[in-house]
Amino acid sequence: MWQQLVLIVLSCLAATIQHGTAERVRYDNYKVYELQPQTAAQLETIKALDGSSDSLRFVDPEYNVDTKIYVLIAPHSVTDFVATLKESDISYELVDENAQNSLDTEELVADANRPSGEYTWTEYHELNDTYAWLRSLPEKYPEQVSVFVVGQSYEGREILGVKISYASNVDGATKRGIFIEGGSHGREWISCATPTYIINQLLTSTNADVRKMAESFDWYVVPHANPDGFVYTHTTDRIWRKTRTPYANDCFGADPNRNFDFHWNEAGTSNTSCGEMYAGPRAFSEVETRALAEYISTLKGKLILYLTFHSYSQQLLYPYGYTSELPPNYNDLKRVFDVGVAALSKRYGTNYTGGPIYEEVNPVGGDSNDWAYGVMEIPYSYAFKMRPSLSEGWIGFRLPAEQIIPASEEVMDSMLVMVKEIRTLSML
Ligand SMILES: [Zn+2]
Repeated sequence: MWQQLVLIVLSCLAATIQHGTAERVRYDNYKVYELQPQTAAQLETIKALDGSSDSLRFVDPEYNVDTKIYVLIAPHSVTDFVATLKESDISYELVDENAQNSLDTEELVADANRPSGEYTWTEYHELNDTYAWLRSLPEKYPEQVSVFVVGQSYEGREILGVKISYASNVDGATKRGIFIEGGSHGREWISCATPTYIINQLLTSTNADVRKMAESFDWYVVPHANPDGFVYTHTTDRIWRKTRTPYANDCFGADPNRNFDFHWNEAGTSNTSCGEMYAGPRAFSEVETRALAEYISTLKGKLILYLTFHSYSQQLLYPYGYTSELPPNYNDLKRVFDVGVAALSKRYGTNYTGGPIYEEVNPVGGDSNDWAYGVMEIPYSYAFKMRPSLSEGWIGFRLPAEQIIPASEEVMDSMLVMVKEIRTLSML
C-alpha cells in the first residue's frame, strides 16, 4: 500500500519535472462578461483594466467603441468589476458562468482517422509535430523547398520557415517574393494552421490558378513567429497571447504585434508589463520580432506582398495602424482588398469586413504589417483576422478543428485573386 503510494507520488513528480512548466492555469468559476462600450470614455475605463490584476483576462484586447469585448473575471473580483462597469455606465452581460467548462469542451485530441505519420488539417498540431512536417518537406520536394531558421525564441526554440521556389521565369527575370507570417499571438491556433495549409497547397494543388501563383513567386512562410507563446497555450494557459520574456511585476511577455520598430508604442499598447498589449521596454525588445525583422531585411526589395494571420473577427486589414492618414498607394491597396474580401465569401458565404487597421480595429503602433509596409517598403501588406466573427461569442480563438480546412480554403480563394490583382497593378 505505502509502496504503491510512494510510486504514485514519484511518478507525479517525474511528470512535473519532465514538462518543466508551472501547472496548468485553470479558470474554474471565472465568469465571462460581454461588454459593449459606447463612448471613448467608457473605452478608456475598460482599457485601464487591462493588466491591472491577475483576476481579469481579456479574450481579445483589440477592441473599439461599439465592439463586443469579452472579459474573464475571477469569482472573488466579480463584485468590484461590476461596480466599475456600473459607475461608468458601460453596458454588460454575463455570458458564461464558468469559463473553464467552455475551455474544456475544446477538442485537443488527435484525429483518430489520421494515418500515422501523416500531417493533416483536421486537427490542430503541437509545435514539434508541425516542425517535423516542415523538416520533412525538402526530402519530398528537393527542387522546390528549403527550410530556413529565422532565429531562436526567448526559451530557445527555433523559429522555422520554409522557402518554396519553382524554376526561374522563362525570361530569366528575378522573381518577386511573398512573405507569410503566422502565430504571432500564441492562442490564435488557426493563424498557424492556415499558413501550413497554404504551404501544402503551393506544393500539391493541381488547380491551374494555384499552380500559376505558386510558380510565379518565391514564397517564405513562417507559421510560428512566436513559438514560446504557442507552446505555453498547449502546456499551461490556453488563452496566452504574448511572448514569454520575463518582465517587471512578475509578468511575462510583450505583444509581438506591438513590438516592431515603426511608430513603436505610439498607439494601442498597454502601459504595464502585465497588459495583453504590452509593447515591450523598447522596439524589438523581443528576440522573436528582432530575428524575424533581420531575416526579412535580407529580402528587402524582393518582397511584393506581406501577409500576416491572426484571429478572430473576420477582417482583412491593411496599413496604417498608427495613424488615420492613408498610405501612399492607398488606392491600389484598397483595390486588392476589395477583390480579396469579395472572394472570401464566395465559397461558404463567410462575411469578412475590413480596411485600414487604424479605422477598422483601433490605433496600433509597432505592428508587423505597418513595419513591413513602412520600413521594408513592401507595397502590399495585409492581415487576415480569421474566423469566427465577433458575434459568435467568446469562442474566439478556439475555432473548432473541423473549420481549419474551410477557413483556409476561403483564404486561398482570396489570396488567388489578390495576387492576380497585384500582378496586374505591378505589371508582373
Ligand atoms: Zn493576433
